[in-house]
Formats: sequence, C-alpha cells, structure tokens
Amino acid sequence: MDEPEFFDEGALIGVLTTQPLDRVLDYKAPAGGCWQGSFVEVPFGPRKVLGVVWGGGRGDWDPAKVRAANRVLDVAPMRREMKEFIEKSAQYTLTALPNMLRLATRAPGLSDPPSMRKVYRLGDGTPDRMTEARTRVLEVLQEFGGLSFTLKELSEQAGVTSSVVKGLVKQGAVAEEDTPRDVPFPKMDPDYGAKELTPEQAAASASLRTGIQSRSYGTTLLRGVTGSGKTEVYLEAIAETLRQGRQALVLLPEIALTAEFLTRIEARFGAKPAEWHSGVTMTERRRIWKMVGQGGAEVVIGARSALFLPFRDLGLIVVDEEHDTSYKQDDGVLYNARDMAVLRASLCDARVILASATPSLESWANADAGKYERLELASRYGPAVLPDMRVIDMRSEDLPAASWISPSLQAAVRARLEKGEQSLLFINRRGYAPVTICRACGEQIGCDHCDARMVEHRFLKRLLCHQCGESKPMPEACPSCEVEGKLAPVGPGVERLAEEAQAHFPEARLAVLSSDLFGSARALKEGIRAIADGGADVIIGTQLVAKGHNFPLLTLVGVIDADLGLQGSDLRAAERTFQLMRQVAGRAGRSARKGAAMLQSFQPEHPVIRAILAGDEEGFWSAEAAQRRDAGVPPYGRMAGIILSSGDVQQVFDLGNALARQDAPLRRIGAQVFGPAPAPVARVRGRHRVRLLVKAEKTAPLQSALAEWIGQFKIRGDLRLSVDIDPQSFY
Ligand code: ADP
Ligand code: ZN
Repeated sequence: MDEPEFFDEGALIGVLTTQPLDRVLDYKAPAGGCWQGSFVEVPFGPRKVLGVVWGGGRGDWDPAKVRAANRVLDVAPMRREMKEFIEKSAQYTLTALPNMLRLATRAPGLSDPPSMRKVYRLGDGTPDRMTEARTRVLEVLQEFGGLSFTLKELSEQAGVTSSVVKGLVKQGAVAEEDTPRDVPFPKMDPDYGAKELTPEQAAASASLRTGIQSRSYGTTLLRGVTGSGKTEVYLEAIAETLRQGRQALVLLPEIALTAEFLTRIEARFGAKPAEWHSGVTMTERRRIWKMVGQGGAEVVIGARSALFLPFRDLGLIVVDEEHDTSYKQDDGVLYNARDMAVLRASLCDARVILASATPSLESWANADAGKYERLELASRYGPAVLPDMRVIDMRSEDLPAASWISPSLQAAVRARLEKGEQSLLFINRRGYAPVTICRACGEQIGCDHCDARMVEHRFLKRLLCHQCGESKPMPEACPSCEVEGKLAPVGPGVERLAEEAQAHFPEARLAVLSSDLFGSARALKEGIRAIADGGADVIIGTQLVAKGHNFPLLTLVGVIDADLGLQGSDLRAAERTFQLMRQVAGRAGRSARKGAAMLQSFQPEHPVIRAILAGDEEGFWSAEAAQRRDAGVPPYGRMAGIILSSGDVQQVFDLGNALARQDAPLRRIGAQVFGPAPAPVARVRGRHRVRLLVKAEKTAPLQSALAEWIGQFKIRGDLRLSVDIDPQSFY
C-alpha cells in the first residue's frame, strides 16, 4: 500500500468539513504538519469545526485569505479505504460529501483532548504506620495483582473512606496514575465457547472460514430456515476473523434484539463486544469510535450506522436478517445498509455474510447470478421441526361482524390452552382500530397535518397519526358534524384483537406485544423474556414478534389477516408478505414440540398464499424474479424516487412539472420519468408531497444522469428535493 501524503506546516491542504458546502476548503497545514486523512480542527468563520485532510488544496482561493488549520486531533487518521467508502457511498446515494462525513463522525467530543482519569495501583513505598483500614487497602491491591482501580472502586472494595487511600498515596504505598478514559474493550477469545456443529452447519462454516482466510472480498448469502443455527455458523466466521487479527461487525435490525445477542457473543468469545446504536451513551460512543480506529474493539454489534465507524482492519461484516426493511434509512441520508456493507467490504478486502431465512429478492438474484456465494441450512437444529402450515378459508367461516378470530382458529387455541402450550395471534397493526368513523355523518377522523387517518390507541386513550406522531384525546363528538356518541372503531388493531381474545378465552393469560406498549427497550426485553419463560398463554403481537425471538413453549401461530400485505401497489408487496408470513410461522415449534401455523385468508388461491403454504421457496423466488424481469423493475432494472415537498402546493407541482418537462439528461441514458403525482401520503406535517419515479435499465449510469437533471434547477425557499436511489417504500 502506498503511503499517504504528508503536508509540511504551511502547505496548502484541502479539508472536508461537515458544514453544508459543496466543496472541500483550502487551509494551510498546522504546526507540525499533517497527513492526508488527519482529523483536524479548522477555523470556520468565528467557530472551530472538525474536518479531514482530504488531499492537497485547490489553490483557487485568494492566498491572503487562506487560514491555517488549528491543530491535528488525537484520533487515528482516516484510512484511504474509509475515504473511498465515503466518496463512493456519496456518489451512489447522491449525497453531499459533508453529510456523508457527518455520518462517519457521529461521536461527540472527537476534538476534545483525550480525557484522563486517575487510577490506583500498588506502589513501592512502605507506610510509616499501619492501621486496619490501610491493611485492607493493600490486601485488596495484592489480591488483584497488577490491576488498577478507580478511587471509588478501591475504597468500596476495601470498605474504607477515600481519605485512607489518599493517605497511602502520600506515603508512596499506593501509586496514583492518569490513564485515558477511553479504554480498549476486553480481548475476545476465538476458542472460548465453541459449540459442536452439525455436519450441515460444519460444512457452511468451513466454507465461510476459507473465504475469511483468503483475506479478499466476497459476499455469501447464508440462507437457513429459522432455528437452523445461522447464528452459530456465523459466530464461527467471526472466530476465524479474530484469529486473522481482524475486526468483525455484526449489523442487527432491531435494538431490542441486541441484549439476547450480546449474551450469546459473550458465551462464545468470553467477553462483551462493543455495542453501537442510538441507545448508547455519548461517552461510550466516543470510546467505541476511537477504539475501533486503534484496534481496541474487535467485535462491534450495531445498528446500520455502525458501518461508518473507522475500523482499523475490518475483515467481516455480518448483516443479520438481511431482508429487513429497517436497513434502509428513510430519513436524512437515504442509504441501504445491506448494499453499503457490500461496498465497504469490497474496498477493504473483507467478507460479507448476509443471513436470512427469507432473503430479499435482490440478494437471491445476486446469488442466482453467481455474484454472491450461497450457503444453505435446510433443517432446524436438534429435534425442532418446521411447523405445519394451513390456510383457514375465511369465506366459509361463520364469524359475526367486528370479530376476527375464526371458529377454527379459536378451536386450535383452545387445544393449546388445554395442553399448557402457547399460541400467538399475529396482526401487523398497532393500536385499537385503524379507522374511526362517525356513524352520523360518515366522517373518518384524519390528522390535521397529514393525509392520513388517525389510529385509535385505547391503551393510551388517544388518537395517533402513524405518519407524523401527532396525537389528540379521543373526542366525544364528531369533529365534523358535532353529533355526540356516534364515533365507532372500524377494523382491528392489536389492542382490539386482545379484547376479542380475552372474551373467547377468559381463563387465559394474555400478553400484548407491540412496540408502542413498552416504555423502553429494556421494558420490552423484560416483557419478551417473561413470555419466553411461560408468563403468558396467548400472545397477541405485531411485526415485533416476527423478528428472531425464541419462545420455546409456542406451538401455534395464527395469522389474523394474511391478505393484509397483498393489497397496494408496492412492487415488493408479494415479497414482503411471503417473508413476513414465513418468519412469523417460524416462531412456532422451535423446541421439541411440533408447531402449526394457520393463515386466515379470504383469497386462499392467491399465488403468494399458495407459495407460503407449499413452502416452495425456490418456486416463489423464481416466479417473482420472472415477473420483475419482465417489468424491468429492481433487481432487474433501476429505480430512483424523487420526493418534492413544500408548504405551498402550487410551488411543489410547478417544480415537479418542470422536472418532468426538462428530462433530456434522463432520456439520453434511456431512462423514463413518471409523474409528478401526489405521493401516496400527499401531506405530512403540513407539507405537500409530490413524487416522481425514474426507471432505467440495470446498466444505465443513473446517478450521473440524475445529478445533471436535478442540477438544472435551483431548489429555493421552503422547497425540498430528496433523491431515493433504489426506493424501498413508496409513501
Ligand atoms: P438461526 O440463527 O438460524 O435462527 P440459531 O443459531 O439461533 O438459529 O439456533 C437456534 C437454536 O439452536 C439456538 O438456541 C442455538 O444455540 C441452538 N443451536 C444451533 N446449532 C447448535 C449447535 N451446533 N450446538 C448447540 N446448539 C445449537
Ligand atoms: Zn399526521
């Protein structure tokens, strides 16, 4: 590898900052000089801001006005591979470089001097006189050998006041030292808690290990039915990465999952990994950021933004539940962590493992085309077997109005109750009822700021807008006709289903599992553990339960509305329904008892429902792939969504129409533009939203054409334009 360039003091350097400018700024190198990649503090107007030496200066600035950088920060310089990652991901997502750099420096206090704290060890001196308290302090220090303590730890351990310790310091019997607060994470032992693998798992693990030993880029789709031991297999890949002296990153879709997962990592490697997500304290974030750069953190478990941490030598990225839609950031920089993981790995000779029971069609197609290696785990670990799946044809069930649990499903739940087993009733809708209608005037209560119905949350006694979060108390009278007592809920949410279940099974203990019913991630985790330990007979749950949790006593899953996801114009509707139903059904029978899954459907002959029942996954993916290929849509074609928004509806349509008219840069690459059309949710937080959709062939240079096309316009005032490459949701 060629050495990064060094700049002597006073040399012209180009510094990228996180300030919203579309260029790198010229400065003079600070005293002592700096490297390309050095993090520096530079004057910016009256302020000091953080930046990275991106390269030499451009020299197109009045030399008299070029200011000197203040100093080089005490953090590992940005590696060339990270710089390339920032540049390429910015290009791919059409994001300005400063915004990308902001993602890569999301830890506070990076420019602070390293913060120190005092620690205490055994010293060389002998105290002039011994007291009982002094003896205890020295005994503690002797007992723990060379370890050092904070003042609080030491005095607590010895059961003395801190002045006793201070007295011993004065006498030289205890040594007081300054050490950096940002300490390395404990070492991971790759050979600590290895499990014996089944032959199928061992074969997959051997193949992954070979890849890691090659120290070159490669992506593997690790597909295995739920409970087949995918996690066990990729833990072995992490072990091999550690043996190679490299770092590993595991991305998980959901914070609630990490607790269970951390325990598993600790059991396997004998130490806790670094944990990076929105719930981590600021001090801990800075510690992780710095340690990752110095190699003092070997394994990081994190949410998608962990991809932008400055790893010293990243050898493996695992994307668990790779199909999960939460990997697509839908706010700020619109990137898909799964795709960016592949990009990052390709730049630093690392491996990627995409693990899922129900892969995304994108990954399936990449494996199909030979771009990704594919490994299969076909059977569940141990005695567990896949559940029986069957459909309940709702057209022939005798069900009174405003109730949703069919007699067939009720009977199945009762049979479980008698055997002391758990049932899960699944409905992918939070709240009590999705719509509240006035039976006097027909008005449906909507949000004042959005084009969306308000959802009744009876538990909170409020109406909530799921778009903008606005809430209001449930009114007595209709806001439109002012008649009282005529407001009625329409359709079921998880809370209403719980009410119905309680009526059918009055003797059963019910647990409702929905993200909004828990105050914190910790409460949710405890709720889940209590259920797993048998604290409930019937679980009523939303999407939350589809993800990875283990409920050993669960033997029945009833899907209340299997048709729910089949409606709508989303091109991934079939794929999503298929994944979700398979995931939910996979919750049943994860231990020795056989499970069953029952899908309530009004269209049991729908191809997607039939594919779910038949368990013919390859058949489903092939059929879905063929349809998308014919339509020229992802993954066989490219798409970009353009969302325009403004408080002024006229202004936003004017811009949309102008974009549609002046589409020469797009036509030149054979791309088509559709719209402008009101976005499916046409108003959010008082802003009107208009969408355009651009469709191109897979090989077309879409990003550069988009940049040229949008570059024709000045986006002024309160207008906003955002580009979503490979959009996942169309709201
Ligand atoms: P997946 O990630 O495919 O859902 P897991 O790796 O979580 O599967 O495995 C399911 C359960 O089976 C876990 O409790 C796991 O510890 C256990 N398990 C899987 N493989 C083994 C093995 N080889 N030895 C011991 N336990 C295993
Ligand atoms: Zn709203």
